[in-house]
Amino acid sequence: MSIYTGPVFAMAREQFQTVADYLDIPPSERDRLLYPKRAITVSVPVHTDDGREIVYQGYRVQHHLTLGPTKGGTRYSPKLDVGEVAALAIWMSWKCALTGLPYGGAKGGVNCDPYKLSRRELEAVSRRYMQEMIPFVGPHTDVMAPDMGTNEQVMAWFMDTYSMYQGQTVTEIVTGKPVSAGGTEGRREATGRGVAHLVGRAMERLQMKPAGSTAIVQGFGNVGSVSAATLAEMGVKILGVSDHTACYHDPKGLDVASLVRHQAQHGVLAGWSTEAVADPDTLLTLPCDVLVPAAVEQVITGANAGQVKCRILAEGANGPTTPEADRILNQRRGEVFVIPDILCNAGGVVVSYFEWVQDLQQFFWDESEGLKRLRHVLDGAFTRVMARVDRDSVPNRDAALAIGVQKVRDAKQVRGLFP
Ligand code: NAD
Repeated sequence: MSIYTGPVFAMAREQFQTVADYLDIPPSERDRLLYPKRAITVSVPVHTDDGREIVYQGYRVQHHLTLGPTKGGTRYSPKLDVGEVAALAIWMSWKCALTGLPYGGAKGGVNCDPYKLSRRELEAVSRRYMQEMIPFVGPHTDVMAPDMGTNEQVMAWFMDTYSMYQGQTVTEIVTGKPVSAGGTEGRREATGRGVAHLVGRAMERLQMKPAGSTAIVQGFGNVGSVSAATLAEMGVKILGVSDHTACYHDPKGLDVASLVRHQAQHGVLAGWSTEAVADPDTLLTLPCDVLVPAAVEQVITGANAGQVKCRILAEGANGPTTPEADRILNQRRGEVFVIPDILCNAGGVVVSYFEWVQDLQQFFWDESEGLKRLRHVLDGAFTRVMARVDRDSVPNRDAALAIGVQKVRDAKQVRGLFP
């Protein structure tokens, strides 16, 4: 019996088995590549504003230490479980290896609903979670970052809590911090900018032009809002957006700057307009050139993969496409070009790596330096993935995963059993 259960973990396992078959990895080697090195579960007790005590579950999964410390985001979500966290840690491993970062994957989180917590409660959860994690993390062991439900402020609380226990400021313990607390310029925007940059690369390959193209974006948090805004800057018309509170669609195009302002002010899209309201269940199957799922897992499924009408599916979220949907999309490879999650949203961890490097050296770059290097890293990864697709005629996802898995496998083979 494994503790790693649930549909998201099953997805990560199935993707891995597909790629392990393609790479001809013997069955005896597979478990060591797939299963995480460690899973930590902690209780996170906090006082609520109305004087009650409530205990959340906190998790951190560290997939492997073969290439360096582990690295990965922290998710606050009421449905979070250890299987989902493990899947996200595993995807982080393949993503870091694909982009050439010296990290194994990790992920963590707390099963709370951040939209229902007051700021004081959010701070209490964040500080207590980090306090419980102190024995298991460190700048050369495991470095946290934001993910769904967490942000720069949460990272500042993590960094401050860790630093208080060390008796000195340790900015390099987390990335995605505010610039005023050792963060790097452009980290907040990095994932969305990376998504848009790779859409541009895919368009070049498909001989499309951003100007005059259209896009639909699901999820309007960090990744979705910046993806939409950057695509709009490139000349792409944004036809539809949604978050967990609202969904808007207008064939003439939406005012993205106004949506971003509303989201920044209210935290959600609800209340932006009474016009252009659309059905979130059909948003993903409306016609557009670029579809960006940037919210949760498993939204492109066996039920709707046959109906998506985009030319480019840019996976801003982790795990938005189920293996069943992949089988359908693989049949439609001439119609739908998939930029797989471990490539498409890698901009975030790439700039997190830059932030960590700068914190370790106490030598800071300006935003243009980070952006230039980000594009260089993503271009390299995109080129490697396309070369493999062209050589072996495999789907884009399998090519990307294969490069990541092979790199970790090579390192494990020369190192031995420890990491
Ligand atoms: P976030 O918390 O900032 O935003 C999440 C967004 O998704 C919110 O707008 C929320 O309302 C929306 N949402 C939630 N459930 C939804 C639903 N059922 N339908 C439509 N919208 C829904 O999170 P984020 O950091 O933007 O992360 C989004 C995705 O991108 C996640 O899969 C995350 O793992 C992935 N990701 C994030 C980063 C990063 O740097 N933040 C990096 C790589 C990948």
